[in-house]
Amino acid sequence: MSKRVAIIGGGVIGLATAYYCARRGWGVTLVDRNPERRDGCSFENAGMLVTSHFVPLAAPGMVAQGLKWMWNPASPFYVKPRLSRELLDWGIKFWRAATPEHVRRAAPLLRDLSIASHRCFEELAALPGSDFGLVRKGLLMLCRTAHALDEEARTAEFGRALGIAAEVLDPGQAAALDPGIRMDVAGAVYFPKDCHLTPDRFVTQLQDRVAAEGVDFVWNTDVTGWRVEAGRTIRAATTGGGDEIEADEFVVCGGAWSPQLARELDLRLPMQAGKGYSLTLAKPRQLPTICAILTEARVAVTPMDGALRFAGTMEIAGLNEDINPVRVRGIIAAATKYYPEFEPSDFDGVAPWRGLRPCSPDGMPYIGRTAKCANLSIATGHAMMGMSLGPGTGELIAQVLAGETPQIDLALLSPDRYDRR
Ligand SMILES: Cc1cc2nc3c(=O)[nH]c(=O)nc-3n(C[C@H](O)[C@H](O)[C@H](O)COP(=O)(O)OP(=O)(O)OC[C@H]3O[C@@H](n4cnc5c(N)ncnc54)[C@H](O)[C@@H]3O)c2cc1C
Repeated sequence: MSKRVAIIGGGVIGLATAYYCARRGWGVTLVDRNPERRDGCSFENAGMLVTSHFVPLAAPGMVAQGLKWMWNPASPFYVKPRLSRELLDWGIKFWRAATPEHVRRAAPLLRDLSIASHRCFEELAALPGSDFGLVRKGLLMLCRTAHALDEEARTAEFGRALGIAAEVLDPGQAAALDPGIRMDVAGAVYFPKDCHLTPDRFVTQLQDRVAAEGVDFVWNTDVTGWRVEAGRTIRAATTGGGDEIEADEFVVCGGAWSPQLARELDLRLPMQAGKGYSLTLAKPRQLPTICAILTEARVAVTPMDGALRFAGTMEIAGLNEDINPVRVRGIIAAATKYYPEFEPSDFDGVAPWRGLRPCSPDGMPYIGRTAKCANLSIATGHAMMGMSLGPGTGELIAQVLAGETPQIDLALLSPDRYDRR
């Protein structure tokens, strides 16, 4: 049956949702507060498609590690000190979620979401005119210390038990796999099935495809609330006083800003913005062919069209998009340690980019309908995996709106999971 769907947010999640809804022949409107050509978290991230990320952020050991890091502004994880009830509540929920039991339940689900999304990427890449730089060469987790390598080897073993290919490499084997770059490492874990792409090209092409499917875009428009009647949203209120948006189904894909819209419906969607930065060297001294994570520093390194992007840090500082130079220097310091041919001066004049990752406290996205309102769904909270899981999320939401049983059980991802706690 045909229906009208309104999607709030034009990042990778909103665009993927628009694509899979429009493919079903539904009338789709996508609203974003930014203009048609815009920036945001989905554009200059590291572009990694990571089946290897099956352990959620909320995992045993992360609380102790986070507490150690959070006082150091140059560390991979930093919480800007501020008095905030939401932040305290998020921290408590993160701590409660960081259990072996949570990891045991979450890991197979994250694997399945990744695999489903990967299939969507392959389908999109095979469409005529697609060229978003998909490279299927795997990912290296580079470790400078034996301790980190041991930990990663244990994760690799867990991955293999889940059916995810992973190999532990000594420094010579790592160098042989990617001879284009000199690495100072104790070893690596190689995930051969991971991929990478050029994210801004992917998002821009997806937007063009969505437009070609007949989706209406409403740019420069902020959704500010809802008109609800008899338990159903009938319109989304927008800035400008005028045009409210009418639809049969509404989907909130507002990234780190989603909790504001959920609050209007009295839905608690705990979330913190996790700011990250990237720096792209247009002409790097050396160019790897395989993307890598500098494990101890939590910095992602991705070759893209002859350039090399370094991305990282998680800064919990509210909905604040300012660039913090101390955090950026942390990325540069890590790059020159793992890749000794590189100098800090290589980054002179390179403009840092920043994006706000939408981070739920249990490290799992919110995907599905909310009981708060019969025709409103949520798709957000993908934190460090929004690119990887974007198309799969769009496909799942389309299944939900169609009234089909989704291909993946969404119980653990319910947007209502914190509403009563
Ligand atoms: C440094 C860095 C590196 C990363 N690397 C990777 C990676 O390698 N692989 C990976 O999978 N992920 C990666 N990520 C994460 C990924 O970028 C995010 O998870 C993803 O982009 C989130 O997409 P989104 O659509 O949910 O949010 P966004 O891209 O933030 O989009 C949300 C949109 O909603 C709009 N909006 C919000 N509220 C409203 C409103 N009320 N009215 C109208 N519009 C609204 C905003 O304007 C925005 O355009 C990285 C992130 C960072 C910061």
